[in-house]
Amino acid sequence: PAVDWDAVRAGLRGLNLITAPGQRRQLSKDFYWYSPILTAQLAGCMADLVVKVSTEDDVRQAAAVAAKWKLPLTVRAGGTGNYGQCVPLAGGIVLDVTQMCRVLDIQDGRMRVEAGARMHDIDLMARETGQALRMWPSTWHVATIGGFIAGGFGGIGSFRHGILRDPGNLLHARVMTVEREPRVIELHGDEIQQVHHAYGTNGVILDVEVALSPAVEWVHCTVLFETYRGALDFGIAAQAPALDIFLLSTVEARFSPYYTAMRDRFPRDRHAVFTMVSPASMADFRALADAHGGTISVAGTEAELLAEGLPPAYECAFNHTTLQALKADRGWTYLQVAYAQPFDPAVVERHLEIFGDDVLQHQDFARAGGECGTFGILLVRWKGEAHQYEVIREIESQGGCRIFNPHVVTIEDGGMKTIDTQQIEFKKRSDPMGLMNPGKTRGWHADMAVER
Ligand code: FAD
Repeated sequence: PAVDWDAVRAGLRGLNLITAPGQRRQLSKDFYWYSPILTAQLAGCMADLVVKVSTEDDVRQAAAVAAKWKLPLTVRAGGTGNYGQCVPLAGGIVLDVTQMCRVLDIQDGRMRVEAGARMHDIDLMARETGQALRMWPSTWHVATIGGFIAGGFGGIGSFRHGILRDPGNLLHARVMTVEREPRVIELHGDEIQQVHHAYGTNGVILDVEVALSPAVEWVHCTVLFETYRGALDFGIAAQAPALDIFLLSTVEARFSPYYTAMRDRFPRDRHAVFTMVSPASMADFRALADAHGGTISVAGTEAELLAEGLPPAYECAFNHTTLQALKADRGWTYLQVAYAQPFDPAVVERHLEIFGDDVLQHQDFARAGGECGTFGILLVRWKGEAHQYEVIREIESQGGCRIFNPHVVTIEDGGMKTIDTQQIEFKKRSDPMGLMNPGKTRGWHADMAVER
């Protein structure tokens, strides 16, 4: 039956509704434009209605209305995801949770916050107690903690603390179901995996408790090398357990023209390692850089760098590398790679050789499952879809490299490769009618839906 939009609006009475097409269009997009494939695919996707919620009761009311009218419901937070995660493929309601942003409690080693809180904001609150978030994406001024858990994997800080799914990082979450009488489900510790990186397909995360660590005034460093191999070898050596490092990323010289704010600190003929090092490790870090023939061109706190007009190290790493390049040249796109361990820099040297000017190299080091991992976010010249998939096939053909494809919208095609049956089982409880963010998981089929 056709949706009676007047009745829907009546059901949502009291909530902040956005109906203007321009705003609805804007609130139906994220950073998928990094991918020309997704840009074409998602161009026409738009919510019929955006609902801005501020409280748990607001979420309950919206979820009940979505269930009653069988409307697709897609949660949107900061909207900084790269794969169209919060783009409503089938229209319906977009639920904007950014006004659910209160800090609920801060204790030693933990913080409980509403899911729509921006990560930079809550880190500032934690710092007032001498503590800090363990990890965050470089988009943390806009990105929310709920969006990070539902759409992300790890980021700045993962070299020290592992990725989100590693034990001890996520402590507790409360999730609202989407059914006629929505319920709240509590998830503790490892149970949070059920909603982690599920793209909001199985419940609305209301609030979360995350682990904090004692705050450190990190020294943002840039170390320059004559060869990219030199930068990579230093990156491997800097994994020594004695060094306390928060961020460790290598970026090759051809990115230099895009890093205009770095000026002569990242010249065109040098390859760079961007790091955040604890003050206590700086002496050892300098000695290691020296031993590897590296030159430290930047070393200062974030405030000191900003005073000099230099970007913080975290805006020179992870997917900010792609952003820096795209700001100047929209002819680029990107690919994400996970390298086999122990990491062999010869694999990257081979890619430098075979791809020439089509692919620019950048690697981030992070711990995952207690082990050191190496991940690449490569800048790839856009020469059409066929060429993009040729590059993917070539990279995956040797050296145990795995591509996390950023040109697709489903969880499974993007990187998880297999359907997470735990998440699908949880979806049967939290979204029994299959209304949440439809089309984003291959594990759900229309015939699994039950009316509730
Ligand atoms: P959104 O984009 O709004 O949402 C992401 C997904 O989560 C969507 O599927 C949405 O439906 C779902 N969602 C949001 N809130 C909820 C909720 N309360 N309940 C249920 N589902 C919800 N990601 C990383 O992991 N690591 C990085 O280092 C990183 N670096 C980035 C750098 C750049 C330059 C860019 C553009 C992106 C980067 N990202 C990174 C991706 C993204 O910024 C982060 O994952 C970010 O944390 C997403 O948060 P958000 O609030 O913007 O979420």
